[in-house]
Amino acid sequence: MQITESKKLFEKAVEMIPGGVNSPVRAFKAVGGTPIFFKKASGAYLYDEDDNRYIDYIGSWGPMLLGHAYPKVIEAVQQAAADSTSFGAPTRREVELAELILDMVPTLDKIRMVNSGTEACMSAIRVARGYTGRHKILKFEGNYHGHADSFLIKAGSGAMTFGTPSSPGVTPGTAADTLTARHNDLEQVRQICLEHGKELAAIIIEPVAGNMGCIPPEPGFLEGLRALCDEHGIVLIFDEVMTGFRLARGGAQELLEIEADLVTYGKIIGAGLPVGAYAGKAEIMNCVSPTGPVYQAGTLSGNPLAMAAGYALLSELHANPSIYNELDQKSAYLEKGLREVLERIGEQYTINRLGSMINIFFGSHKVQDFDTALKTDVERFKDYFHGMLHNGVYLPPAAFESWFLSNALTYADLDATIEATEQALSPSR
Ligand SMILES: *Cc1c(COP(=O)(O)O)cnc(C)c1O
Repeated sequence: MQITESKKLFEKAVEMIPGGVNSPVRAFKAVGGTPIFFKKASGAYLYDEDDNRYIDYIGSWGPMLLGHAYPKVIEAVQQAAADSTSFGAPTRREVELAELILDMVPTLDKIRMVNSGTEACMSAIRVARGYTGRHKILKFEGNYHGHADSFLIKAGSGAMTFGTPSSPGVTPGTAADTLTARHNDLEQVRQICLEHGKELAAIIIEPVAGNMGCIPPEPGFLEGLRALCDEHGIVLIFDEVMTGFRLARGGAQELLEIEADLVTYGKIIGAGLPVGAYAGKAEIMNCVSPTGPVYQAGTLSGNPLAMAAGYALLSELHANPSIYNELDQKSAYLEKGLREVLERIGEQYTINRLGSMINIFFGSHKVQDFDTALKTDVERFKDYFHGMLHNGVYLPPAAFESWFLSNALTYADLDATIEATEQALSPSR
């Protein structure tokens, strides 16, 4: 496999763009080597600048649920573009997408469109604060909610639940309002609520975590959070930026049968265009300006191209619920095949999967939170990643990221992925 054009582009890019990329994980820092530059994609396949083909397990981190360049999405975007790319005024397409989403997720009453998952989560906690009149939020270690200041907080030292900034530029003042807890540790959340319940505006969580590898909720964990939020008057926010419209039409809420008060979306709802949204109960959403006093705005929010793309993709999911069964069967098939290979090779591994979110951790212990994820063998993942890349399979370039399957994957693609895994990890290599 020849990688020359990507290297040339990267050399040029690092001169002008910090790290050569517009979002850090793309830079391959977590796996080493030079990032691959892509020029096109179709269905389940990516093509790089050297015309190498890869089977794609990122799907743009989620949006390509039905594969790249899905014809109905492309057509919708072209039509919308011909009618002008933006108005800064209301359009029919915003109403149509809102109606479709509220229909697919019946627990939601109202929705506001923004331009990214970051914006959605940032806005959702502001609304929760405005609604409750409280200042603090609780998040879970290893969960990602975008790069707003309030979320770039890690656990403080010792047993303290108050966070410290995980990035320079975030003030201690902001960090003081974000508490952190261990993912899947209901008892710890209960303790925090006993102490700080009256100060907490919101608990925000990835109901199925995907940003520390795939980590499904332990039985009773999310139910317990729901009960604690009810007991202490805290707004429960499900960050469904990854899981929304992926795990089921109604996302994790539907699959796991738990209702959040606010839900954030991104990724899939824009079908690859920049969109995010937050949505929830009317009583809370009515706090949002101009109905209520909580300010939130956006020049390009509800952009017609983005609305058209999202509408085209979600319409397909709405009309064909069997897509979710197909995706689940493909993911189960991949999981089974990977397990067989890893057993045969004698690899220490754990596979976590829920629906079409899956990944391999190198290490045989159970992975249920950030600490147990960090204890897995990252060096082994790096070998695996590059072995797979060499064999034409593009995995997320970091050990702690979920893979995202698309329904464009064929069983032959899955077999090729399983075969590539055997080659990438076999001792003879
Ligand atoms: C990607 C992601 C975000 C941030 O979305 P952006 O569109 O990248 O700003 C927030 N929450 C979760 C769970 C995500 O996976």
